[in-house]
Amino acid sequence: MNQKTKTPKNQNTRSQRTYSLRKQMVVTGGAGFLGSHLIDKLIAQGHDVLCIDNLFTGTKDNIRHLHNHPHFEFKRHDVTFPLYVEGDEIWNLACPAAPVHYQHDPVQTTKTSVHGAINMLGLAKRLKCPIFQASTSEVYGDPTQHPQTEDYWGNVNPIGPRSTYDEGKRCAETLFFDYHREHGLAIKVARIFNTYGPRMHPNDGRVVSNFIMQALQGEDITIYGEGSQTRSFCYVDDLIDGFIKLMNSPADITGPINLGNPSEITIRELAETVIDLTGSKSKLVQAPLPADDPVRRCPDITRARENLDWQPKTDLKTGLRHTIEYFDKLLADSQAAAGP
Ligand code: NAD
Ligand code: UDP
Ligand code: UDP
Repeated sequence: MNQKTKTPKNQNTRSQRTYSLRKQMVVTGGAGFLGSHLIDKLIAQGHDVLCIDNLFTGTKDNIRHLHNHPHFEFKRHDVTFPLYVEGDEIWNLACPAAPVHYQHDPVQTTKTSVHGAINMLGLAKRLKCPIFQASTSEVYGDPTQHPQTEDYWGNVNPIGPRSTYDEGKRCAETLFFDYHREHGLAIKVARIFNTYGPRMHPNDGRVVSNFIMQALQGEDITIYGEGSQTRSFCYVDDLIDGFIKLMNSPADITGPINLGNPSEITIRELAETVIDLTGSKSKLVQAPLPADDPVRRCPDITRARENLDWQPKTDLKTGLRHTIEYFDKLLADSQAAAGP
């Protein structure tokens, strides 16, 4: 006889919750640039979100619109300390990402990547739930292979000023894969390439925010070195779509998987594009190139295309226009707040 097992009413087991539409999402680094966009998307999809952040580089302004939202909760917490909460999926984004931020307190940056990963993996192990890691193209260091595929092992200086970030993220990847092999944890590791968009920190020293802020204020645009170094810039909405597709992919897709825009430009070309789009009279000036600054960076996204059916849709000029609009409003608001 074909018998169905009846589940008693009111018995809300974890497995039932996991497969129901609404999930409890734990997002670390949720008050930051990428984290806040991810949270918006998860809430729009009907999930509950617990945002974990110590507000080191993130700000409550990025999540202010969610204040009092019935499906959103904020917990101020440093991921280098253990965290005992409940949840169905963990998204580990906590870590300063801009060079000026991660070099401000390099020991804390390494602790955030490494101790933070151990704690979040321990949490995922207890909850028996999938965990996403925001890794980075910086695991490739100053790459000798171009464009970078996921099987390239990288060229990282272990003792330079960028090492705290690069080696911390590399060690976090090691931990993710060891928890996967040793404890059978469901992991999703994304290697994120340079991403830009609204809610980037205006003073984070990153090239997109610097150039736009400088152009809007009529200040000189600072090109480090010759400006012949390249990067490939991905618009934030495209990246977040990639995050969601990766998390929802079959269990055998663990990553690492490159997420970024494969359209590569020089830093000088980026400066010229920003001047063009803002109509600014700013001049281009040269400043010293920081140590260990990668010469070229461009993702090979074949794996993301094949495994996730994902590729970026937003062209650079469109994405920059949205970002310029955001910084323009930010400047206008801060001028209005300062008064006449
Ligand atoms: P961000 O600085 O805006 O966000 C990071 C968030 O983590 C901030 O809200 C910060 O307060 C929080 N945080 C830092 N240390 C913490 C700690 N110890 N405990 C709890 N919270 C902490 O940076 P972002 O651009 O949004 O980057 C998010 C993640 O994506 C990072 O892990 C970063 O390494 C990764 N990433 C970003 C990019 C990019 O281009 N934006 C590229 C590669 C990787
Ligand atoms: N941890 C946590 N929340 C949990 C479970 C674990 O923060 O719900 C942390 C705790 O600090 C622990 C670490 O994750 O030391 C690693 O956990 P794991 O179970 O892998 O190892 P343990 O150190 O407990 O043997
Ligand atoms: N850069 C620049 N002027 C700036 C800020 C950055 O020329 O005002 C350069 C920087 O040297 C690097 C590139 O732009 O070659 C990207 O820098 P960013 O800090 O945004 O990211 P990352 O180096 O981590 O890719």
